[in-house]
Amino acid sequence: MKNIRPIYSIVTILLVAMFISCNNKSITFNDKEIELINRYKNSIMPLKTINTESDSIFLREISTPLTKEDLESSYFQELTHSMLMTVNNPENEGVGIAAPQVGIGKQLIAVQRLDKEGEPFEFYVNPKIISTCGDKEFGGEGCLSVPGMRGDVERYRNITIEYNDIENFEIKTETIEGFTAVIFQHEIDHLNGTLYIDKAENITNK
Ligand code: ZN
Repeated sequence: MKNIRPIYSIVTILLVAMFISCNNKSITFNDKEIELINRYKNSIMPLKTINTESDSIFLREISTPLTKEDLESSYFQELTHSMLMTVNNPENEGVGIAAPQVGIGKQLIAVQRLDKEGEPFEFYVNPKIISTCGDKEFGGEGCLSVPGMRGDVERYRNITIEYNDIENFEIKTETIEGFTAVIFQHEIDHLNGTLYIDKAENITNK
């Protein structure tokens, strides 16, 4: 009987170790992203722009989905807080921002809900456009990653999106109309490595 206890202990340690390693695997932020999130905790993050070759390449990459465990991590809380500070920078304000623009290759966007009272910024996790309604229309756009430029882009004015709820990761759908729908399309494009200048006409300096 004496020999059994150490075996139980070893089995317990192994099970705990497996649980911890499985749990860690569910957090998908890589070392570089964690370093970036920690470095710019509670502050404005530097924006990736097309003016730098390495940034330009990064902005063309496809972002990966966030997991429920990512959302429950402190990294996610810190990242959303810093992204909000970045898009609200009085010197360089935007109406939307996507995680790749601050160097995080994850499917996360913040959109200013111009269609809601108080025009709050809201975050959307793993957003996808699942349907559109009506024809596309041209409208002016700019981008924090394309400094000093504007262009006309054809976008839908009525889209339905699917995303994971920021609180409980449940799948939600929502239909969005007007210019807010344009912001969603612009930001979701970022997650697919597409910039508005790829689609724009009449690109001019601001
Ligand atoms: Zn943009």
